[in-house]
Amino acid sequence: MLKLLVPGLAVNTLSDIDFAELKQRGIRGIILDLDNTIIPWNSPELCPEVLAWIKDLPGQGFKVCLVSNNGKRRVKHIALQCGAPFIARALKPSRTGFRRAASVMELHSEAIAVIGDQLFTDILGGNRQGMLTIRVKPLAAKEFIGTKITRQLEKVALRLLKATGHL
Ligand SMILES: [Mg+2]
Repeated sequence: MLKLLVPGLAVNTLSDIDFAELKQRGIRGIILDLDNTIIPWNSPELCPEVLAWIKDLPGQGFKVCLVSNNGKRRVKHIALQCGAPFIARALKPSRTGFRRAASVMELHSEAIAVIGDQLFTDILGGNRQGMLTIRVKPLAAKEFIGTKITRQLEKVALRLLKATGHL
């Protein structure tokens, strides 16, 4: 169980992700979490830098799919800006949303990297599905109350992972 919470890679920000390296590892598809990964929680718009970063991915040879536990309206609004397909109400860490994203991108799990801020949803779910998981630090401090609680648990898990040499 503990191992499933360990991200394959951990970075500070999206721009720290080395896509040339991902390509070398056979990654062809990117699953992006929405809230606090590409956009601050409850913010209606993507910042231009992040939008440009996302729109640059297909040119580098990557398919993109947004996978979020948030509702369809919000996810669709952001996905349209990105020009990417999306899975809303994904119920991460359930594998269903990740599987659906793999089928939308027509890729096997091993060729997909999941980028997200939460160990208990993005990283756990992506690892369970056999995808490469990349944890980024969350964008905003103001969060949904449920997220605040899991964030406390996450702190404990991160300490535990560090203490046991997993991170
Ligand atoms: Mg998130």
